[in-house]
Amino acid sequence: MGPSLISAKATEELVLKPAARDYFKELGLRTFINAAGTYTSMTGSLMQKEVTEAITYGATEYVNLDELHDKVGERIAELLECEYATVSSGAFGAMTIGLAGVICGMDTKKVSQLPDTTGLKNEVIVQEAHDIAYTHALINTGAKIVSVKSAKDLEKAINKNTAMLWYLNANTDLGEISREDFVALGKKHGIPTFIDCAADVPPVENLFKFTKMGFDLVAFSGGKGIRGPQSAGLLLGKRKYIEAARLHTPPRGTTIARGMKVNKEEVLGMLVALELYLGRDHEKEWELWENQIKLISDSAKSVKGVETEIHVPPHANHVPSLKIKWDESIVKISKDDMRKALRDGHPSIETVGNKEEVGITTWMMDPGQERIVARRVKEILENA
Ligand SMILES: *Cc1c(COP(=O)(O)O)cnc(C)c1O
Repeated sequence: MGPSLISAKATEELVLKPAARDYFKELGLRTFINAAGTYTSMTGSLMQKEVTEAITYGATEYVNLDELHDKVGERIAELLECEYATVSSGAFGAMTIGLAGVICGMDTKKVSQLPDTTGLKNEVIVQEAHDIAYTHALINTGAKIVSVKSAKDLEKAINKNTAMLWYLNANTDLGEISREDFVALGKKHGIPTFIDCAADVPPVENLFKFTKMGFDLVAFSGGKGIRGPQSAGLLLGKRKYIEAARLHTPPRGTTIARGMKVNKEEVLGMLVALELYLGRDHEKEWELWENQIKLISDSAKSVKGVETEIHVPPHANHVPSLKIKWDESIVKISKDDMRKALRDGHPSIETVGNKEEVGITTWMMDPGQERIVARRVKEILENA
């Protein structure tokens, strides 16, 4: 038997026993405990069994893509008590197609014209404190960002080219204009409003709150707190804008969003993840996270010179979170080296942080992993 035959046989065996394969190991990749949060670089969140089952189910049959999106859009709208919805390619994709829908309406000639916005409304007004990297999703359409500070500036900036007003929920406390005033300004001037709530579940109420508040469009990430497919998202709101947004998405091809495809597997996965999320015992989950954070905090604090702070960010990643700090003249390791030691250890643990602190959340962990994290944190600090 020649070597190529052996390897062909080995390959066949591997394909026949997929559950036995450790794909990441085969590729030479280390997996890790996610003590950081829902970071794209760390592949977001983990899908529950029901979600991966829906994805596997979807992979075995053909359906008409538009009909699937129609049905799932209706179902999500019903679940979230809003006019209409669609599964997008992440919150970022929701922003691009949402704005494209606002700019072009149901005019397919305009749809194929983008990203050339000649003759179309092409300005999006954003508060300066909200003008973060993700506004790139908006300029992908060909539109440009007009940055303002006060409500007065915003009204002055409105002109015949203003397409939309965009609000970043995560930075609610940094801008001068409240969400309610923002919506009111949009209504006063007849301009649609969009709120980016990508990382804003929990609380679960946020899935309902902003469409009810009057925002015309609302975007959530599918693969953050909802734990759906990491490359999926939700666009919620007014039917006329979402139907228009869909004109930019596959199967249609002469469009800016042909590459933002969401196929049946992710559509089903997103729907099931949302159903699961809505049905969860949110209070119990919160209590679990609090206990996990306290365990890690107590473990870290038991080392002399170490201080901890438990906090909950008010908007975005609104979960019990831990900051660990220490006096580096007593505990002789830098924050970066501590994070590296956690990453390089067994098992590998990913955290967040800066020169001042190491940051930990537990909501993306499998229950039980908090004990490993608590032990490793203490071990490294003690031995520093
Ligand atoms: C994560 C995030 C996005 C991008 O969301 P995806 O679902 O990854 O496309 C956009 N805006 C904000 C504020 C985010 O936190």
